[in-house]
Amino acid sequence: MQPDVARAAVTAPEPCPNCGAVLPVAPVPRYCWQCGQDTLRIVPPLRRRARDAVDRYVRTLVALIARPGRLTEEYIANRRERYLPPLRLYLTASFLFFLIVKVLGATGSIHVVVAPMVDNHGHAVTATSNPAAYQAEMAKMHACVDHPGSCSWGRTLASRIALAGDAQSSHPEVVAQRMIARAPNAVFMLLPVFAALLMLAYRRRRYGYATHFVFSLHMHAFWFLALLVLWQLPPVALPIGVLMLAAHAWRALQRVYGGRWWVTLGRAGLVVSFYLLALAATVVGLSIASVIVT
Ligand SMILES: [Zn+2]
Repeated sequence: MQPDVARAAVTAPEPCPNCGAVLPVAPVPRYCWQCGQDTLRIVPPLRRRARDAVDRYVRTLVALIARPGRLTEEYIANRRERYLPPLRLYLTASFLFFLIVKVLGATGSIHVVVAPMVDNHGHAVTATSNPAAYQAEMAKMHACVDHPGSCSWGRTLASRIALAGDAQSSHPEVVAQRMIARAPNAVFMLLPVFAALLMLAYRRRRYGYATHFVFSLHMHAFWFLALLVLWQLPPVALPIGVLMLAAHAWRALQRVYGGRWWVTLGRAGLVVSFYLLALAATVVGLSIASVIVT
């Protein structure tokens, strides 16, 4: 990129305005060698900045969608400036996803069913299946919470959750709203888990954790955008969509980590299985948190 304005002749060493590093007199470098700041004291025209930003977004999106794994590959090869940084890409996609879900889909409601015990036949006792037994058990749980130390800590915790669930069972829409509000943080917490699983699956590769994390950011960014599309598909087309998603992930793994295609398939299966377990645990935790935290 050529500077728009010719630099005035400089006769004495000029420190970098940003970090104070002394820069050579001639030729004055385009960027500070220490902090990387632009040495031209001009603000680029808005139009050019906007055009550059749009170019960057489009290039990033095309690579993300049409060339699985390309963004991570480019990141590893140190070609980074032409694309959005991985974390910003992730945050943009996740923001977009949860915004659209909130605007279009937050009308759902989640029914809380509390089953504090099972009967002699192994069936869960709920407020509708056996009201008398349910009420008796809830009374015991009340006693447990009201008299600290009278039950084990596990039983006390279970009682707290059951009582909170019982109180929330008449407000299914509130629980759904709280879950949606907490979901972005929950998914964010799963990013390092996904990266750790990749690191385990590919522990013989020379990549450090940071590289697996970048791959994790790129994959999740894609999944957020893909979910927005999958969500709109008729149920008949859903299996095809899920299959395409799996093919995309497999191709991305192949491009970034290499290896035989069937080994990649096996590794992807392992990573996805454990990841789904973590996801399920997170959803359960999220549901409990949505019920008890007011
Ligand atoms: Zn500097």
